[in-house]
Amino acid sequence: MTDKQGKNQDDLQKLNRSLVMRLIHKLGVCSRAEVAKLSGLTKASITGITQQLIDAGVVKEVGLIEGAKGRRSIGISLCMDHYLCIGIRLTRKDVHGGLFDVGGELYADKRRLIPENSTPQDAMALMKDIIEKLLKKGDGRKVLGIGLAVPGPLIYDEDKIAYMSAFPGWENISIKKELFEAFGIPVLLEHDGVCFAISEWWERDSADFRLMVTVLAGQGVGAGIVDGGRPIRGALGCAGEMGHMSLNVHGPRCDCGNFGCLEKYCSTLVLEKRMAEALENYPDHPLYGSTPDYREIIKAAREGDALSTQLFSEAATYLGYGIVNVINLLNPDIVVVTDSLAEYDELMQSVLERTVKSRLSEKILSRTKIVVKPSSEYLAMQAATSLVVDMFLSSPISAETEKKGSKAL
Ligand SMILES: [Zn+2]
Repeated sequence: MTDKQGKNQDDLQKLNRSLVMRLIHKLGVCSRAEVAKLSGLTKASITGITQQLIDAGVVKEVGLIEGAKGRRSIGISLCMDHYLCIGIRLTRKDVHGGLFDVGGELYADKRRLIPENSTPQDAMALMKDIIEKLLKKGDGRKVLGIGLAVPGPLIYDEDKIAYMSAFPGWENISIKKELFEAFGIPVLLEHDGVCFAISEWWERDSADFRLMVTVLAGQGVGAGIVDGGRPIRGALGCAGEMGHMSLNVHGPRCDCGNFGCLEKYCSTLVLEKRMAEALENYPDHPLYGSTPDYREIIKAAREGDALSTQLFSEAATYLGYGIVNVINLLNPDIVVVTDSLAEYDELMQSVLERTVKSRLSEKILSRTKIVVKPSSEYLAMQAATSLVVDMFLSSPISAETEKKGSKAL
């Protein structure tokens, strides 16, 4: 056998192992026959692969389970007890980190606000402090890695955020390198939009679609694009900067250099600013005299306040304009909108549907699903964790042998 043939065979074995791991992860407890059927691999291959995974301690047998036609067979599942992952989300205002198991269950979390006028180095110090505290909660279990979701644009190959609007200086920091030097465990860095896209892809039954765009509408607007399970990052790694799509070429200048960017019209920061400005003209408004944050504005809108509803709807309408552009450019099967502004999911869904319907051909619209997914406090960290889980599922045996200090299979 030539070296090349040997390598190809090795790659194929790793791919098959990864496929089997993903299926067991998705199914929970299942039989070897089920995995064989869904993977398209032979029963003999599945027997061999599961044995390797059992020997490596990443899969276990769980006793007899009921199979098709009432046949009983030995169940298998992932051994999640030994492994933990850390998921971190960095935003312009805070750092939130969580310790999760491979199944996505939260063990502990820590959040720290980034004080105004902080430097990126200050934010990195907060992040390291959170990671250190979370690692101590691991009770000696192996932490497979740190997944980190950051606002972009992220120059993926250079491990740097090109710029962060309203938070300068990130272009000088090698985030991954700095965290790896501090903790010595793998660090996976992704644009937050890409993180969500990967996590959403695995969570949904992706049999019905191929191209998915996830849109994060929060302090900025970012998108992640996944084609058949693979993220599309672009030449430098900063594809998906939907927030910097110009919606008004004569609009205000943005930090990115463009004019009238979507982010200038739709974000939690813009909503809060517009509300503060508008309240000056409404002395009778219950929120007059305060500077409400987006949660208070959404709460007021949900309770029927006309001003809050109007400002929220305006922001959502601009997001709809952006989504029309994305659909025209990429023709996705599904667009999933989430993050802070999706907390008012019903109104966001209806405004987006109305806006997109009025600007897109019926033929395209009827084949494009738009879903608003309410954001949860842990959603972003879980998405960041999915990077680590993805790495583990892709190469479970190397993760295990690294722990034992032996040679990778
Ligand atoms: Zn911009």
